Amino acid sequence: MPGRRTIGVDMGGSKLLAGVVDTGLSVHHRVQRSLNGLDQAALLDIAVDAVEQARAAAGGEIAAVGFGIPALIDQRTRRGVIAVNLPLFDVPFADIMAERLDLPVFVDNDANVAVLAEHRAGAARGCSEVLLLTIGTGIGGGLILRGELYRGGVGAAGELGHVVIDMDGPRCQGNCPNRGCVEAVASGTALAREAVRVARERPHSGLGRALADGRALAGPLVVELAHDGDVAALDVLELIGTRLGVALATFANIFNPEVVVIGGGVIAAGELLLAPARAEMLRRALPPSRDEVRVVAAQFGVEAGMIGAAMLAFDRLRERADAL
Ligand SMILES: [Zn+2]
Repeated sequence: MPGRRTIGVDMGGSKLLAGVVDTGLSVHHRVQRSLNGLDQAALLDIAVDAVEQARAAAGGEIAAVGFGIPALIDQRTRRGVIAVNLPLFDVPFADIMAERLDLPVFVDNDANVAVLAEHRAGAARGCSEVLLLTIGTGIGGGLILRGELYRGGVGAAGELGHVVIDMDGPRCQGNCPNRGCVEAVASGTALAREAVRVARERPHSGLGRALADGRALAGPLVVELAHDGDVAALDVLELIGTRLGVALATFANIFNPEVVVIGGGVIAAGELLLAPARAEMLRRALPPSRDEVRVVAAQFGVEAGMIGAAMLAFDRLRERADAL
């Protein structure tokens, strides 16, 4: 095995998580950065800076860096062609990072690396047909089919978040030209928007009081209020979970997966999100798929992408060594 540690970097739509990962998949020297409101140059600078910080904390001896980025990647050219929720356009991300970091750099879609981690060592271990949704700013998707990561023709497959569940629904986010995508109505961004709507309608609820107090009604606060029993917050999570379940029914019908793994920041809601999602999927999907599929939280939680990115780096190093 060439090298004993790699750095995994998960770039989400609003934050970056990096960590030094050893071959036993233990994470050391975590680094976190906000990615809000940056242009492409600043985004690349922050990615370099975060990796350098983790590398310095580890005292060097890093074999490679793996990145999971929320972009559609053309694996023929190693270019990130387009990102829905970050300013990355037609950029040779891996080559730029390799040059600036002076290390081997490997890049894949953030949900692809997350499903790699969950399939090999997490909630989908031992399964050959696996779907993963990572729900944060947007909704990313990763597919394991017949035991292998499925990347499609050029590497852009598995964009499960851009499956339409409402033809005339709201415009999707960022650079997606579609309407009514599951990302548009069930992402962390949509959750925050629904929380504000419900808070205005029900000013005496916990959510309503939080809004009146000027608190940011984003996912973490909604989940906290729901865990405290606020009915308005519970209703918001049930609505988002139900919409997710509409998409899950379609995925169950298409892929007949053994397991659907849900990760990303919003999975902090746990069963408050998963129970309504499962119930709606059961109402809509066809047998036998609907009866066989398990819908579970990511075992690595919000670190699935970071750990998967580090795994990608280990894998590619091993392939290189084998090819010599
Ligand atoms: Zn979309």
